[in-house]
This record gives sequence, C-alpha cells and structure tokens, in this order.
Amino acid sequence: MLLTTPDTATIRKDFPILNRVVNGHNLAYLDNAASSQMPQAVIDAYIEYHRGYHANVHRGVHTLSQEATDAYESARDAVMAFVGAACREEIVFTTGTTDAINLVASSWGGSFLKDGDRILVTNMEHHANIVPWFRLADSMAIRLEVIPITDTGEIDMDAYARLLPGAKLVAVNHVSNALGTVNPIAEIVRMAKAAGAATMVDGAQAVPHMAVDVQDLGCDFYAFSTHKMCGPTGFGVLYGRKALLETMPPYRSGGDMILSVSFDRIVYNKVPYLFEAGTPPIAQGIQTAAAIRYLTGIGMDVIAEIERNLLEYATGVLSEIDGLRIIGTAPHKAAVISFVLDGIHPHDVGTILDEDGIAVRTGHHCAEPVMRRFGIPATTRASFAFYNTTGEIDRLAASIRRTIRLLR
Ligand code: PMP
Repeated sequence: MLLTTPDTATIRKDFPILNRVVNGHNLAYLDNAASSQMPQAVIDAYIEYHRGYHANVHRGVHTLSQEATDAYESARDAVMAFVGAACREEIVFTTGTTDAINLVASSWGGSFLKDGDRILVTNMEHHANIVPWFRLADSMAIRLEVIPITDTGEIDMDAYARLLPGAKLVAVNHVSNALGTVNPIAEIVRMAKAAGAATMVDGAQAVPHMAVDVQDLGCDFYAFSTHKMCGPTGFGVLYGRKALLETMPPYRSGGDMILSVSFDRIVYNKVPYLFEAGTPPIAQGIQTAAAIRYLTGIGMDVIAEIERNLLEYATGVLSEIDGLRIIGTAPHKAAVISFVLDGIHPHDVGTILDEDGIAVRTGHHCAEPVMRRFGIPATTRASFAFYNTTGEIDRLAASIRRTIRLLR
C-alpha cells in the first residue's frame, strides 16, 4: 500500500483555532511545549459525550453509564497500545504529569525508600520532577543528588555513572521542556537497572513528538500529560510496570479504588483502579482516545519527521540573528528553541511577538535550575508542532528583528 503524508495545509484544516486572528495578525502558535492545540475530532469527542452519553463510569447498570464506561476504558487500551505497555493494568489515569510523579513519590517513594537512601535527578528537570522528590527527601532524610548537564544541555553521562552506585531512584525527563534535549533514556535506564536503581521518566515533552515504547525503554515509571498531545487539560498518564504497581499502596483514597468497605475492614481494588479514587475526568479520557486516534492517523514517525525539519529550519533562521543565543544546542533535540537576546528581557520579547500575533513562552519554564546552570533568569521559547509552517518561523524571525530594532 502506498502511504501518503498529509501536507501541512491539509493538517491545519483540522485545527479550527489556527484560523484565529490575534492583534490583527493570523495566529502563529509556537507555544506547543506548554499546551498543543486540539483538532476538531478531539473537540467533537467532548461534545458527543456531553450531548449523547454523559454519565458516571464504573458504577451504573444503565445504558448511558455503560456507554461512558466503555468509551472511558477504551481510552486505557488506546494509551496502552500508543506507548507499548504490556497490559492495560499498567496504565494509570491521572490528572497530568505532575499528578503522576506525585503518585510515584508518595506511594512508591513513601513505602520503599528509607532514611539515608539517595535519589538522583538531573539538572534539567521540570519542577514537577524535582519538587515531589525534594519534599520526600526532606521528610525522610533521603539525599537528593543532581546529575550535572553540559554546556550544550546534555546529561553528563560520566558524572551520572559516578553518582549511580547505591542510588535507589533516577528521575529524568525524556525531553527537556526548557532546552529541547532528547535524553538517551534507554541507556540511562540500562545503567540504572544494572546498579539496582528504579527509574521515573518524565515523558511530558516526548510522547507528543515521537514514537515512545516504554518496554523498549525499560523504565519502571513513565509519565505524560494529554494537553501537550492534542488532547485535553486535566488528564494524564502514569505507566508503571505491573509487578511494581502491584506492590504499591494507594495514593489517594475514596470510591472506586475499593472493592468493599466496612468499619473494620477495607478490601482494595486492583491496579490500575487502586490509584484512581473518585470520579475521574471522563470526557477528558474519551478525548484522549480521540487524540491518540488522530496522532496515530498521521503517524508518530511522520510527526517526528515534520518537526525535525521545522527545528532544522528554525535553528538556521534564528542563528542568523545578531545577538541571539540559543540555549540548548544538543545534537539530538525535539522541536524546541529557547533563546536569549543580548540586553533584552524575554518578557519584552514575548510581548512584542504577541503584538505580531506570535505566541511563544517566556520565563524559566518551571525549570529554574536549568536557567541557573546557564546563568540566565529566563529565556524566550518557541516550540513547534507538526501543524506549524516555515512561514510562521519566518514571521518569528522578522518579529525578533523588530524587537531588537525597538529595544536596543
Ligand atoms: N514535565 C515537563 C517536562 C513538562 O514540560 C511539563 C509541563 N510544562 C510537566 C512536567 C508538567 O506537566 P503538567 O503541568 O501537565 O502536569
């Protein structure tokens, strides 16, 4: 069969928001690492649920509840296949990456770590993969140690090898949201396993942009958020190896995570439901299935290829601007460009770009240690998705030049 790759113009028709005009200009949405946009099919999934079968899941015998349960639980199968988990029990629904990492820190960390243990985090983590470990370390006299990164924004693998012996957990992002670096997760996990350490991979910036197979990576835990992969906010996933999840105590407690309750005995539900107390974000689960259908319809390898080309083009165009310095120059990057302009604060850059209808993010990107590592308070970050165009990148470059003319 001959497969054809849809062109960007065709893809863009699926995203109604891309027709927006902002400050008199066509929107150029280059803030995809914060949240990506939703295609019509994902918006429709929300509307169809609310119009046609809105009901609570798991408890009802009536038709609507069964339809809602079927749709919601089929999202678990879709996620399982999407990230290559071995079985549906390995897919725990959460409210996002942050919630997933907190689950692991609280449940796994709280029961399997003890005073004197060591946790390794890299110097390029998002706060979501630092603060839960910091708090755990603080509460239990655990040592949190930092794996340094190089000037190009890559993990210093020699330093990692030196720090690893005796560590109990390695917490690392697959792709850095602040730098774009794609980390060699399979190698990091292989080394951790050989040293007897567990692995928590923050995949928030990887799953939307490349084919991910958690079994190939070999990690113990892998977390991601659906609002960065053309899906809804308020929803996310924790993948955990079944054998490991089955040893872990509940995270939050209440309905749905139990099989029976009396005042002298509680029988808990099995995984993954053990970790899913209360009514879940049902519509968002159903939208997640729609988002996965949409992404796999295009193909994750196709998406990765489109974004690789956009990154290459943008890196070329932006590198030609005098006084612009790219922060994060690893050879293997996702389509994220963080940069600083000599003598101009990123906040001012973002404001002027917005005047031109261009949406980027400015600030520390919830990764303050990375900023400190590079001796800067903040960056401007342009992050691309498969629906972006080289024309939008040209507009970005022109608007940056206008910013320099105005402010320098
Ligand atoms: N980790 C990384 C690498 C991220 O980019 C983000 C989102 N900026 C998070 C974690 C947190 O995701 P969420 O806010 O959806 O929980």
